Amino acid sequence: FDDRDGWIWLDGQFVPWREAKVHVLTHGLHYASSVFEGERMYGGEIFKLTEHTERLFKSAEILDFEIPYTVAEIDEACKATAAKNGLKDCYVRPIAWRGSEMIGVSAQQSKIHVAIAVWEWPSYFDPATKAKGIRLTWAKYQRPDPKTAPIAAKAAGLYMICTISKHAAEKDGYADAMMLDYRGYVAEATGANVFFVKDGVLHTPKPDCFLDGITRRTVIDLAKAKGIEVVERHIQKEELATFTECFIVGTAAEVTPVSEVGEFKFTPAKLSLDLMDTYAALVRGEAMATA
Ligand code: PMP
Repeated sequence: FDDRDGWIWLDGQFVPWREAKVHVLTHGLHYASSVFEGERMYGGEIFKLTEHTERLFKSAEILDFEIPYTVAEIDEACKATAAKNGLKDCYVRPIAWRGSEMIGVSAQQSKIHVAIAVWEWPSYFDPATKAKGIRLTWAKYQRPDPKTAPIAAKAAGLYMICTISKHAAEKDGYADAMMLDYRGYVAEATGANVFFVKDGVLHTPKPDCFLDGITRRTVIDLAKAKGIEVVERHIQKEELATFTECFIVGTAAEVTPVSEVGEFKFTPAKLSLDLMDTYAALVRGEAMATA
């Protein structure tokens, strides 16, 4: 992904894509002192930009480092990076990490670097399969106990189990993996939160050991505005047999219907498809309103 044209915002400057490099002794690489965001720009507007930037700062604070910019500066830099690359519809990836000035578990005086890259990423899942629902298998790893890992941070280190699980799923022909949590409750997919439908009511896991996604909260608000009841609670794996629909939500995934989670089957129907369309309209509608 490093050999392409374009510009990356790196520590306050635009650098040609191929030249946006770090040293091999980067602390973030060795010790996972790295936090990032995933945002989408629709029609020239980044959806919930400041919420994402604020989460980036919160994630950094949780990992005990301070981003040397203001939230407003990073907001502007995200928009400027899209503009510099001539993109109006793209994925936006800000990342902050400890540099190579110090190595070792302790690296208190290392420099904090920030980069922002943007690229076209039309659909996280193949659009044709998306409407039919994607197939998920069970992940080998569980979301950790909040006492084991800083689960509220969107931190690189927490993605180790996601990549392992997603690779294993893909090797077996699935689109993604569903993770349980440390207690055995259904948690989330490797890069998206999950919702289930039963008798017209939405059920979604309580985000007490995984990211309470911005899309998740947006979908909850959309559903409630439509008069749909939303229940946030612990969900047992066996309960999946009682749900009729399932979909996953995230900035990259948007609202993606699911047809299968391991031994449990679902049929994307009215509620999933309606929320998929409403979310798509919302993200683009806001872009039009503020353009
Ligand atoms: N969980 C994980 C593990 C994720 O990577 C993401 C994507 N950032 C989400 C949930 C959804 O978060 P959001 O809706 O804020 O993109």
